[in-house]
Amino acid sequence: MPSNRAGLLVALLLSALTSCMHDVSQLAPGVSGRPNILFIMSDDHAAHALSAYGSRVNATPQLDRLAREGIRFDRVYATNSICTPSRATILTGMYSHKNGTPVFNRFDGSQPTVAKMLQAAGYYTAMVGKWHLGSDPTGFDYWNVLPGQGRYIDPVFYDRNGSEVYPGYVTDVITDLTIDVLKNRPKGKPFFLMSHHKAPHREWTPDEKNRKLFEGRQIPEPSTLWDDHSGRTDALREQQQSVFNDLTRRDLKLKPPAGLAGQDLQKWLGVKPVEVEVEIDGLARMLRGDELKHFKYRRYMQDYLACVQSVDDNVGRLLDWLDANGLRENTVVVYTSDQGFFLGDHGLFDKRFMYEESVRMPFLVRWPAGIRPGAVTDALAINCDFAPTFLEIAGLPVPSGMQGRSLMPLLKGTRPPDWRTSFYYRYYHDPGDHNTRAHYGIRTGTHKLIYFWKKDQWECFDLIKDPEELHNVYNDPAARTTVESLKRELARLKDEVEDDDRFAEEQPEGSSYVQAPPKKKK
Ligand code: CA
Repeated sequence: MPSNRAGLLVALLLSALTSCMHDVSQLAPGVSGRPNILFIMSDDHAAHALSAYGSRVNATPQLDRLAREGIRFDRVYATNSICTPSRATILTGMYSHKNGTPVFNRFDGSQPTVAKMLQAAGYYTAMVGKWHLGSDPTGFDYWNVLPGQGRYIDPVFYDRNGSEVYPGYVTDVITDLTIDVLKNRPKGKPFFLMSHHKAPHREWTPDEKNRKLFEGRQIPEPSTLWDDHSGRTDALREQQQSVFNDLTRRDLKLKPPAGLAGQDLQKWLGVKPVEVEVEIDGLARMLRGDELKHFKYRRYMQDYLACVQSVDDNVGRLLDWLDANGLRENTVVVYTSDQGFFLGDHGLFDKRFMYEESVRMPFLVRWPAGIRPGAVTDALAINCDFAPTFLEIAGLPVPSGMQGRSLMPLLKGTRPPDWRTSFYYRYYHDPGDHNTRAHYGIRTGTHKLIYFWKKDQWECFDLIKDPEELHNVYNDPAARTTVESLKRELARLKDEVEDDDRFAEEQPEGSSYVQAPPKKKK
């Protein structure tokens, strides 16, 4: 049987490769075999809404546990800060212009992915939760995913056989399904399991347990909530992701007038209100002006943070399950989010812009057999690095087409002398859902340079003197030399990642924002 012989040959080659690539002496005594990888990713969970990252607005004890028992990465960045592109980059280890997913277009699932490579090397691969790539998952032995964005309450999931409603709250259901995968997996193989939460994505629907947690609490406002955007480009002034101006009655969970239904109700909910009637101490009051602005921030954050709390609870539940079932030592548990999020920073919600709160991803890794607990690194990492890291953990070579670099040395506590000191970013969705203008740029250890190419306007920030990115020094004569050297670095990086501007003017068609679930299971 030639195919069997070929299969055997591949297996032998892989096993030889594995034994030479993977230095088991790096593992703790008593631990052997290829590590399992559990990749937990939420949607739009900003690092500054985790207490492990010094949050001023909430506490996340279970995620902090991951940080305490593993390593916290302080500078991990999305290379295109929006859901679908970040997911495509994580799977391929490539920038959007290479994997063909710059916006909410359909991901070409026939291309190589880290899941396919791990599967071919003998890993059991599974994907549960929010997929949001338009096409069906490939490279997974098991998958069960939300169609498009999915919904918070009684979510529909679909797999190869059709769709099914799962009663309950989406974050609980995704954790239940993840634990089911762990229980039912073939025990003779290591696993690669992606568990992707929908929360805390808009429209921020908390579960019953945490719904009232932030009610009546003072939620500290960020120092840049009232940023007037002066000195920066038109792009910032034209955006429609402002907490004060763009949150709708639906976002603010305002109660519609009795009797309103159908299209009239949807129209009412879609209004961005300039006054809101609330009840305070039994009396009706109309909020306007600054009072309304404070109200909108508070209302937005209450629900966002309550959604985060359920993610935290469920990560704790999953860690408990691993620990109780002998999977603690040699399972690499990663927690991240597909990008960051503005929590009123610069007066914004949502992401997209290359400002820190949006591009920065939380990234925590626990692996008792391989990582010293309580470690922290500020090495510059990007979402292209995740796939190479998983491959190296599994003892596999990293294909040259991948544009990231394995984080393994950093996990082990050493930063290679030639580690990157800058990274390249590009956002395309223009005009998108929030009228955010397309831009590309670089971040170094000390500076950020952003170019809004359709407007031919620039921003430059000195991140040491101005970490809040309020003072655009692009036109400052004192910064001329710095700007020139940043422009050279931008050109070098653009060339290095082989960005040929292929999606600069025209983007691929098709949207996976809304996706109808396939037919129901019989
Ligand atoms: Ca997202």
